[in-house]
Amino acid sequence: MAKVNLDVAVVGGGLGGLYALYRLRRLGFTTRVFEAGSGVGGTWFWNRYPGARCDIESLEYSYSFSEELQSEWRWPERYATQPVILQYINHVADRFDLRRDVELNTRIASAVYDRAANRWTLTAGDGTIISARYCVMATGNLSTPRVPDFKGLESFQGKWHHSGLWPAEGVDFTGQRVGVIGTGSTAIQMIPLIARQASHLYVFQRTANFSLPARNAAMDVERERQHKADYARRRDEARTTPFGVSGYPLPTQSALAASPEERRRNYERLWDEGGTIGFLTCYNDFLVSEEANETAAEFVREQIRRTVHDPKVAELLAPKDHPIGSKRLCLDTGYYETYNRDNVTLVDARSAPIEEITPRGVLTADREYELDAIAFATGFDAMTGALREIDIRVEGGEVLAEKWVGGPLTYLGLMSAGFPNLFMITGPGSPSVKSQMIVSIEQHVDWIARCLDDLRTQGLARIEPTADAEVAWVAHVNQVADSTLYPRANSWYVGANIPGKPRVFMPYVGGVGAYRRRCDEIAANGYEGFEVTAEGNAALRQRTLSAA
Ligand SMILES: Cc1cc2nc3c(=O)[nH]c(=O)nc-3n(C[C@H](O)[C@H](O)[C@H](O)COP(=O)(O)OP(=O)(O)OC[C@H]3O[C@@H](n4cnc5c(N)ncnc54)[C@H](O)[C@@H]3O)c2cc1C
Repeated sequence: MAKVNLDVAVVGGGLGGLYALYRLRRLGFTTRVFEAGSGVGGTWFWNRYPGARCDIESLEYSYSFSEELQSEWRWPERYATQPVILQYINHVADRFDLRRDVELNTRIASAVYDRAANRWTLTAGDGTIISARYCVMATGNLSTPRVPDFKGLESFQGKWHHSGLWPAEGVDFTGQRVGVIGTGSTAIQMIPLIARQASHLYVFQRTANFSLPARNAAMDVERERQHKADYARRRDEARTTPFGVSGYPLPTQSALAASPEERRRNYERLWDEGGTIGFLTCYNDFLVSEEANETAAEFVREQIRRTVHDPKVAELLAPKDHPIGSKRLCLDTGYYETYNRDNVTLVDARSAPIEEITPRGVLTADREYELDAIAFATGFDAMTGALREIDIRVEGGEVLAEKWVGGPLTYLGLMSAGFPNLFMITGPGSPSVKSQMIVSIEQHVDWIARCLDDLRTQGLARIEPTADAEVAWVAHVNQVADSTLYPRANSWYVGANIPGKPRVFMPYVGGVGAYRRRCDEIAANGYEGFEVTAEGNAALRQRTLSAA
């Protein structure tokens, strides 16, 4: 049984874990990453389904920590595909010599904190034991695939796959009758491509989602040149915007104050430009006022009706049960057009729900659909799934999964009270999935690195949030969410896709810029809301840790 001694153990080898390794190693902390998969990349290692690509432009959705990296790396398309993003992450791992501190094929099963020793002991599935003063959970928000427990799945005679565990060698659907279950972001990316291969594609839709055109294209060389020439300023700007994307500042105009003609021109321009962030930041009441939101929602429904030839299918595809943007806004290439193909059928799984998977296919309340293959695009146990799967506890004290039974409780989405020296990257209660996530990952890692450095410099060894600070932060997260339309949707943001999961709005929607300012102020004010302790359990007054 191998035993490893570290300053910092990082769990997860995606974009978050790798950047944490890079940053902490440079500060002289002995750091290792433990990753369940057989390669680095996280999301981009696992999600190899057809059509997988980022939905934020690659010039934005990329690391900003190295000027050389961002200027030298060439993105071939406006929105990079999964293989290209994975290639980029592997390039980063090689370029910054990260691999020697990454342990692959190592799933961490438990993490137990010993208060007297002030150390975390992590145990991996293979029995490896890791002892570390600090533990950083970079386990991802969308890393626990959810295969619905349909009755009869094991009896299915064809092949089935979940988008988040897609075989590395790919799946050839040529000539097959295929069922796609789900119509969220992932399904919307895979459906147009599977439709081109399958003899017939059945899409089982329970809830229609809003999707906007990506207008993906080969990278415009001049645009890339201009963007890169201005990279430093753009990255700084991104960090102050609501969603962490440059060029989309906090909107100031109300949709309701604009005339219908002006609004329409604006929506048409955004529709033609492609992308989701333009819509999300087009008006300051877009995500706040139902009436304002409805103007954009109806515009998108009109586009769906214009694109899809069969009016019944168009009506089924036009979402009416949630405000636009209150669920993850999808981005597509030819999604709605796909329903004009003769070999594609939209199955309304709301009025005739799926009852079971049979040996031959899918049985709904209406009829049986014979299938050779099923692709589950049913999402993830989002935001808390990966953390709840690890037995995280304090010896003789609390168990994280039990503490979170009514929903996640954190201070800033960075730490949870009662669990000293345990950090989360993009944890619940931070902008996380409501942002360009690499901006949020870098911000969290930088904050943690600065904090550990400050602790070390000042001879301190333990940090944890106070219960009061956590209660106040959770209340603030909820209050901000309740002032928006987000909680109106039954989305994975509230855990609605997981039976029995508590309905709590998990991300912080106050915006990347405001959140970042708050985190910086807290550090500058002597890590307000945290309790710091010296080695040997001598409790110090709060605020004795000062930021460098
Ligand atoms: C299909 C898809 C498309 C996306 N597109 C975008 C986009 O366009 N823009 C955007 O901002 N975000 C996007 N996201 C969100 C994406 O998850 C983040 O942008 C980012 O990749 C997260 O990086 P991460 O390192 O935090 O987590 P992940 O990439 O999820 O990595 C976490 C890693 O932790 C590992 N792990 C988990 N538990 C354990 C354990 N117990 N032991 C060991 N290892 C463990 C997992 O195997 C995984 O490799 C997308 C997500 C998906 C699923």
